[in-house]
Amino acid sequence: MATVQDLLRPSIKALKAYSSARDEFQEETSDMVFIDANENPFNNGVNRYPDPQQNEVKDLLSEIKNVSKSNILLGNGSDEVLDLLMRAFCEPNKDNIIILPPTYGMYEVLANLNAVETRKVLLSEDFQPEGDQILDVADSNSKILFLCSPNNPSGNSFKDYEVEALLKKFGGIVVIDEAYIDFSNQDSWLDRLEEFPNLVITQTLSKAYGMAGIRLGICYASQEIIKVLNTIKPPYNINVLTQNKAVELLKQTDVISDEIDSILIERSRLMSDLKSISYVSKIYPSDTNFVLVKVDDATTRYNQLIKEGVVVRNRTTQPLCENCLRLTVGTPLENKMLITALTKLQ
Ligand code: PMP
Repeated sequence: MATVQDLLRPSIKALKAYSSARDEFQEETSDMVFIDANENPFNNGVNRYPDPQQNEVKDLLSEIKNVSKSNILLGNGSDEVLDLLMRAFCEPNKDNIIILPPTYGMYEVLANLNAVETRKVLLSEDFQPEGDQILDVADSNSKILFLCSPNNPSGNSFKDYEVEALLKKFGGIVVIDEAYIDFSNQDSWLDRLEEFPNLVITQTLSKAYGMAGIRLGICYASQEIIKVLNTIKPPYNINVLTQNKAVELLKQTDVISDEIDSILIERSRLMSDLKSISYVSKIYPSDTNFVLVKVDDATTRYNQLIKEGVVVRNRTTQPLCENCLRLTVGTPLENKMLITALTKLQ
């Protein structure tokens, strides 16, 4: 099997990182004078560049997720992390990635941006990966396989044995996008990071952790991969306000877990209420904070709901999602408004 060094783009292997002014020094831990970065010296809370290695945030994540700091890289949302991975491993106009539609749209957008071919293998009818077909379309230029589990927009998790087989047999990097893992009763693949050198896991503070507004995405991988990503990331990619807010809120793990509990209770209630809507023909199981439903005519229902002041996501053009709407679980009041609108439209 190819090693990480074999899989990296030659230009990335040769790349020397930009050395930022604060790589070696931490302002807070020193009484030195910092006249190295052409900043305005007058303190207003944001006049200094942020910590390029985001040590405080990583310390907290490392504790919460039980992973070593050296296995963590942070990005401006997990979208930036996904882009860094693409740029590290995929040579433009040569390499390809494999995605499993219906899935998160950014993988293909980022591939297009980076002039990387996207190969698609549809999920099965019950939204599981088709291992043999995936390995059939892969070749030596297939550098990344994106597995979104729990999957957006279907809401389900992929079976462990399917994922494990792909980790063993796929010749490139396997990225498991766990944006919704904190809503799931399945285990994260984080515990098995050491076992698979080609495993990369992405998570985010945007969903269960309630911090979509600060844009903080997380990549967990081997130290070897994290070192490369650190070389190519923009020097100060996580701003001061984001780092401070993340540190503040990550200390409140009890609040976060109460919110998750409440979202999960609301998800069950919503799923049960949806059963009484005559034109909802299918409610898909969910391991996330959203529910995919099949209706009689998704586009008509989508437009009707907007007129009732409720905005949902119309997924009807996605493969295997004909006439499907994706409904995010809101507050009890928001969910009630959704059900009231859906009932009215019967
Ligand atoms: N992965 C999946 C599966 C998502 O659904 C999303 C956001 N919708 C992301 C990644 C991106 O998250 P972030 O806010 O961290 O960029």
